[in-house]
Amino acid sequence: MLGSLLLAGSRVPLVRRTVSGVPLTRKVVDRFVAGESTRDAVEAIRRLTDAGLAVTIDHLGEETKDAHAAAQTAEAYVTLLGALRELGLGDRAEVSVKLSAVGQALGEEGDKIALENARQISEAAHDCGANVTFDMEDHTTVDSTLGILRAVREDFPSTGVALQAYLFRTEADCRDLSHEGSRVRLVKGAYAEPASVAHQNKAEVDRAYVRCLRILMAGKGYPMLGTHDDRLISITELLADRFGRSRGDYEYQMLYGIRTDKQQALVGAGHTMRIYVPYGDDWYGYFMRRLAERPANIAFFLRALGGK
Ligand code: FAD
Repeated sequence: MLGSLLLAGSRVPLVRRTVSGVPLTRKVVDRFVAGESTRDAVEAIRRLTDAGLAVTIDHLGEETKDAHAAAQTAEAYVTLLGALRELGLGDRAEVSVKLSAVGQALGEEGDKIALENARQISEAAHDCGANVTFDMEDHTTVDSTLGILRAVREDFPSTGVALQAYLFRTEADCRDLSHEGSRVRLVKGAYAEPASVAHQNKAEVDRAYVRCLRILMAGKGYPMLGTHDDRLISITELLADRFGRSRGDYEYQMLYGIRTDKQQALVGAGHTMRIYVPYGDDWYGYFMRRLAERPANIAFFLRALGGK
């Protein structure tokens, strides 16, 4: 209930100004965001890769309403990928891109602009030996995102995409994308979606995740399991045994700053564990989704505001 309110509030400009304007918010944001500059991102990537983790980097931003800002976001990715290439980190790194940050939300021309920017980012990623994965945003963007994915894969076939188990359509999307060479990150889903398109109840979302997981693990693609949920990780291991997948045939992904103990435990067990590392100054939407996911995070936030 509180989570839904936070997700709804995250789209109200007054709430955004109020939360962003509280000086201590920054302290709490740092728990989930690696910093604002390319340099901050590179430092975090170094620290994580030195600890045996792989990374996927997100330049924060979403729902861009101006073409110039969309081009600047693409440019920020190109700069970051250039830095990774120079440091030789391309093999441990990939980037995650929200298509609405590179133009998808710009009306009729949106898909075309997002596709051009996504191609530019993919070219830079290719030069540095890194992959690109498209994040999935609210349900109204899914068809557009999968269309852009198809177009980008013609030149960059390793491009991946996130699919959200809470959407009714996702089992079918998993089937379509379980072919050889396909890279799918399966997540539960982080947006406030209506009952007409998505499961509302946590147990139903978890069951839907397992159905999707089964399709991806039985398929021929490369499943990337984006979850912090112990039960789903155990089920993934059972399915890996059943379908004869060894450690390099799938990977786990978690968010920066969340369950770091479990991240290290999975690395210790020989898994590829990739950390989603967000950086940049447009952290508001991302931060609010993290608060909404877990009441304890809201308490942490309120304690920080109270100076404790
Ligand atoms: P939950 O049932 O929410 O959590 C399981 C356990 O994980 C909790 O009990 C808690 O211990 C821990 N946990 C979970 N969330 C938090 C938190 N915020 N703070 C502290 N502890 C927490 N969603 C999208 O809609 N589109 C995307 O493109 C997308 N990309 C993602 C990429 C990655 C790598 C990951 C890990 C998640 C992504 N998500 C995305 C978010 C995802 O949809 C979920 O909202 C989020 O992962 C929480 O779900 P869970 O599977 O961890 O399970």
